Amino acid sequence: MSMPPFSAQTEAVGCLLASPERLAHALLLRGSRGIGKAAVAAALAKGLLCENPADPRGRGLACGHCASCRWFDAGNHPDVRTIGLLVKDGKVASEISINQIRELEDFIGMTAFRDGARIVLVDPAESMSVPAANALLKMLEEPGRRTYFLLVTHRADSLPATVRSRCRSVAVPAPDSAEQQAWLAAEAGIPPAEAARLLALTGGSPLHARHLADPARLTAYRSLLEAIGSLPDTPSVAVADVVAGAETAQWYSLLQRWTSDLARVCAGAAPSFFPESAPRMQQLCRRCSLAGLTRAAARLQRQAVLIRHPLNPRLFVEESLALYLEAFESSRQG
Ligand SMILES: [Zn+2]
Repeated sequence: MSMPPFSAQTEAVGCLLASPERLAHALLLRGSRGIGKAAVAAALAKGLLCENPADPRGRGLACGHCASCRWFDAGNHPDVRTIGLLVKDGKVASEISINQIRELEDFIGMTAFRDGARIVLVDPAESMSVPAANALLKMLEEPGRRTYFLLVTHRADSLPATVRSRCRSVAVPAPDSAEQQAWLAAEAGIPPAEAARLLALTGGSPLHARHLADPARLTAYRSLLEAIGSLPDTPSVAVADVVAGAETAQWYSLLQRWTSDLARVCAGAAPSFFPESAPRMQQLCRRCSLAGLTRAAARLQRQAVLIRHPLNPRLFVEESLALYLEAFESSRQG
């Protein structure tokens, strides 16, 4: 996906590259979903590998035309390994397996082809299975010379604490909304007003906004939002029917953002993700409690680790909706 690091992100990469000798050998690049973290990781990797960094006194951003940069852009730099979710028969694997991490052993054991840095990119890092994370941990404990591990995640808290503690945590800044809108206009020809609406709907995720620029996807997303917003007036079984048809990561994140927005409205603030749903949230507020919503939000956050492996997907939908609905129960009792 061609997304450039936005200006605040380029700035952050420049700061990290300013003194590569002091850079930790393992970095956890974390931030919200769909803001361009992968592009940030790529810019960082490219800068670390570049044989002619732009400004050796300060920002060591990649020059873009040395042999290393050209290899990197072509996707075949010999000193880079990228670990992600494999796609088989058109289906994306649900986790990064231990075999994928084990395949790194030879790479780690070798010296760099270009006599420079070596890079291991893991994205999305939270998708590593437990054995995969343990295998990676061993490598993080004994990194080779000038080997950098770049772990990318939007759910840092789903990673084992042992892995997190071995990494320097780097918060990837979200791009500002003007830049996001300009990118959506350039990339997908989306007019500014429409871009602003899509960005609001996706909680400021330009990648997700571009995805929703497709009318069919937008309609499906809106039905999902409407179904969740219709609770508790619509029976939860009917809502579960609609929700179960969507991708787990999508509906779960929507339910979490809806709960958090409703809590904001209950506390007297404006919704930050779904401004168009403010009137509906005002109605709902009178029937649920802020304490109940805060509790529901915390429990949804805790069980987010199950997203990848719900034992029974339909039951997982019903249980998650029930967690949200408890905020209404407690209000009635109180
Ligand atoms: Zn270069």
